[in-house]
Amino acid sequence: MKYVLVIPDGAADAPQASLGGRTPLEAARTPALDTLAAGGRVGLTNHVPDALPPGSEVACMSLLGYDPLTFFTGRAPLEAAAQGIALGPHDWAIRCNLVTITDGPAGAIMEDFTAGHVSTAEAAELLAAAQRGLEADLPALAAAWRFVPGVSYRNLLLHRGTADAAPLGADLRATPPHDLMDKTVAGDFPRGTGSGLLADIMARSASWLADHPVNRARRAAGKREATHVWLWGAGRAPALDPFTTAYGVDGAMITGVDLLRGLAALVGWKRIDVPGATGYLDTDYAAKGRHAIAALAEHDLVCVHVEAPDEASHQGDAAAKVAALEEIDAKIVAPLSAHLATAGDHRILVCPDHPTFLSTKTHSRGAVPFVMKGTGIAVNGRRAYGESDAAATGNRILPGWRLMGEFLGTR
Ligand SMILES: [Zn+2]
Repeated sequence: MKYVLVIPDGAADAPQASLGGRTPLEAARTPALDTLAAGGRVGLTNHVPDALPPGSEVACMSLLGYDPLTFFTGRAPLEAAAQGIALGPHDWAIRCNLVTITDGPAGAIMEDFTAGHVSTAEAAELLAAAQRGLEADLPALAAAWRFVPGVSYRNLLLHRGTADAAPLGADLRATPPHDLMDKTVAGDFPRGTGSGLLADIMARSASWLADHPVNRARRAAGKREATHVWLWGAGRAPALDPFTTAYGVDGAMITGVDLLRGLAALVGWKRIDVPGATGYLDTDYAAKGRHAIAALAEHDLVCVHVEAPDEASHQGDAAAKVAALEEIDAKIVAPLSAHLATAGDHRILVCPDHPTFLSTKTHSRGAVPFVMKGTGIAVNGRRAYGESDAAATGNRILPGWRLMGEFLGTR
């Protein structure tokens, strides 16, 4: 049996006045998805447990068939895995944004969670300076704590720990800086065991970065400076069973997003790099479709993740979201469906990870529609694939992590 999973990130949404009262999925012209709905099983699921943050890090773990309430430890460990960084049982990964915090009338304000999209090369220099600052100001931490450059503003801080030295605790919480845009930050420093240490590093980073040549050059050029590091998403490595052990099939992941690459690495899937897969609205949809078809020759299950619908919602752009969904339909779902029709026993599943509402421009918890079609899957035939049709079936698979087992026929 061959399996295909397509994840249109953040595709689920609410009805839009600008779309005649339809959701983006309902307004988009998606004949390939509608064919799946007509000949397959449509329903609703939910990949974000109430206790966890609504985002791809939780929802995609659920989509891959792992209960996030059991396995989710934080976002940074997934990003570390994407970078090929192995975490030992006592190690922690902490997401380290370079950010721009400025003084406002009511206190310090998160002006930019990307520090003006600071370049990767600039970020590497700034993090080296932060490392020197940490070693000078907090010498007791020097041996175990390390800043690790990533891409642009998205970097990591690693703690290499031992069984008898655990400075951070599972109750540690921190606010993602993208949720603080233009808001005061004073009430949103980390909370829980180890938060004092992280808050100290964040506060001291201002002096480590202030007069760095990179920031002087950005100031002179009228660009935003990287004033601080902002630490969040901390966690230890999640203990995910290999997918072949959990579900008996092997997998491959096509995505433009680090988080998904990391998840794939942690469950033992192959990561297939597709030239032109950007993780943005300009991604090369057709190339993803072609590479997915090619990967089916070697793997039981191929997952294609597309970030573009989520990105369109973050921009509040309904027309761009509709366009992204039509591209996914025409250039990924349609060619994959045509290929699978010639491939013997097969199943295809399409499901967003979470809603990303155009109205709020951010991720949300809540129901998402799924459609699955193929060998042995009972048909509850709807005319189209969309939120209201899926709700009308009365078909629910909950909690969301059980969807994978239903799809594979193993649960
Ligand atoms: Zn997502």
